[in-house]
Amino acid sequence: MRILVVEDEVILREGLSDLLEGAGHEVVAVGDGLIAVERGVGEAFDMVVLDWMLPRLEGPEVCRRLRLARPGLPVLMLTAKGDERDKVDGLHAGADDYVTKPFSPRELLARVEVFARRLKAAPAPAEVIEEDGAALDLSRCVVVRDGHEEALTAREVGILRWLWRHRGRAVTRAELLEHVWGLSPNLETRTVDVTIMNLRKKIERDAKAPRLIVSVKGIGYSFGALR
Ligand code: CA
Repeated sequence: MRILVVEDEVILREGLSDLLEGAGHEVVAVGDGLIAVERGVGEAFDMVVLDWMLPRLEGPEVCRRLRLARPGLPVLMLTAKGDERDKVDGLHAGADDYVTKPFSPRELLARVEVFARRLKAAPAPAEVIEEDGAALDLSRCVVVRDGHEEALTAREVGILRWLWRHRGRAVTRAELLEHVWGLSPNLETRTVDVTIMNLRKKIERDAKAPRLIVSVKGIGYSFGALR
């Protein structure tokens, strides 16, 4: 599996990476909640091992945001407390399972293997959106149009995934900032417009007359035209 490990303590993060790689998994390890959301939303992972206490954005909130953008992504939460209330909060945020620190390597691997077996039994479907002559392959982070393939950034994939998931309604810039950037929606929204302008050049037949990411006056954007 391709696993995103989110843990701010360096020794534990490296230990987890070694352990999971030793068991044959591919690991991307990060130490910060916001970066975790950015990578987890924009890239293809089979599961996330997520620490509870993290800088910038805590584990349950990371889990909640990942869940919004990638509903099927399994999350195994690490908690130092083992407190019943925390367990309930975390499950509420959408975690699938728990390991209480300190845990044994064997215990963690056993939990991860449960997810690996589930994935083998029911592999995640490829995420390809075909629209207006473009194939947006979100799992591979590429767009193919007229036989030409171009790479999409993690952020661009995050935007597409969010708009697609909410197609049929207008999505605000503040919403994109919060869920794709992981930033406070009160911040500058011009960033969103600039990113979408560049994304349109990659995916639209004519970036000046966009049909995939359509502007909704006074609100933001929608995937395709709203009826
Ligand atoms: Ca921590």
